[in-house]
Amino acid sequence: MLIMGNEHTAAVIGTAVKEVACEACGTRYSYLATREGSAAAFSPYFLFESSAARSAQKKAAADAEKQLARACDVVPCPACGLVQPAMVRAGRRERHAWMASVAHGLLILFGAASIVAASVLFAHGPRVLRQSVQVWAAYAAPGVLAFGFWAGRRALAAGYDPNAADRATRIHEGRTRVVDWVTAGGRRGEEGESGWRW
Ligand SMILES: [Zn+2]
Repeated sequence: MLIMGNEHTAAVIGTAVKEVACEACGTRYSYLATREGSAAAFSPYFLFESSAARSAQKKAAADAEKQLARACDVVPCPACGLVQPAMVRAGRRERHAWMASVAHGLLILFGAASIVAASVLFAHGPRVLRQSVQVWAAYAAPGVLAFGFWAGRRALAAGYDPNAADRATRIHEGRTRVVDWVTAGGRRGEEGESGWRW
């Protein structure tokens, strides 16, 4: 049955101050994280239009808030330049994320092929094991490819090391992102005409 109606979509951009304590030098610093939340709500038969719009807006705001709660941007320490281990991990998770989706899809395909293979084996007995190589290859291909994408992504992610960049560059990058910072010794960064200094 086709239900006519209207789909309301909403996008909400939120920001949150994230506090960090540097694991190398103890500097405490904060930066602004920005995330966009999105949601959709349906108003069947064009009824409840405004409540659907409000609902989409509310869900989008909740989505942005959820993302912000776990947001972890790569912001190097403005004092020593260290990209915190949690940031490196978050950066690795985000990198080549599409490869994980592809691996996931292939795995589902492999699962489906396994069910078919198992039921054929069950119905026809062990003689189906003498099937041609092509049939077995067609069955195994999604599984092998899924493993390839998974392993490839792992290797690529492991190669991501933001701390390999020049230290001065990292410090500069950190100072362009921080809102505020205080070293373990109590020295506070000051915002000068050409960025942060102490
Ligand atoms: Zn530091």
